[in-house]
Amino acid sequence: MPEALKRLIHNISLLPWIWENRATKLAFFLLSTNENYLRELRENILTIKEKTAICHICGAITDSPKDICNICNNSQRNHSEICVVEEYLDLLTLEQSGGYSGVYHVLWGAISPINGVFVWDLNFAKLFTRIEAADSKIEIIIATNPNLEGEATTSFLTEEITKRKLKHKVKMTRLSRGLSSGYIEYADTMSLVSAMRERKEI
Ligand SMILES: [Zn+2]
Repeated sequence: MPEALKRLIHNISLLPWIWENRATKLAFFLLSTNENYLRELRENILTIKEKTAICHICGAITDSPKDICNICNNSQRNHSEICVVEEYLDLLTLEQSGGYSGVYHVLWGAISPINGVFVWDLNFAKLFTRIEAADSKIEIIIATNPNLEGEATTSFLTEEITKRKLKHKVKMTRLSRGLSSGYIEYADTMSLVSAMRERKEI
């Protein structure tokens, strides 16, 4: 096999969720596809970091050089409802469901000491700043995944809000159970809309 092809297969195999034979198939696909597609792909990969930014309010991904995302910047959204999600993909899934009109906060993960993810690795500080800065009572809607990490994250948030004496400013709720997949990212629209509508106070 030519060296260049071997190197390409190696590069592709380093991507997550790609197994060795899949990497080989993808490399052959790239080799046989048209030049325009390859040029566009190369351009998008090379510029993805400079063309995106992180919203400095909620932590979502936005178009660079904007530092506030379209949701945080939208006065039609209910800014007294903050839905806390683990990943940006969860935000996208909830947005696609169309069943939520508040704003978000992306933690970029969930507490998982066993995997080396600790409180300080996640986007909590800005969430507490948002709560502290709020003029009126806000609802924090916990939309973490229903697993050990999601539960640990919810417990930390609840304890920290009490410890920081912010309880009077916050109504804490969480999505009702009943998402067929268990995970927000894979939930279907109907389940998400009803999980949001039937959210319970904690
Ligand atoms: Zn934002």
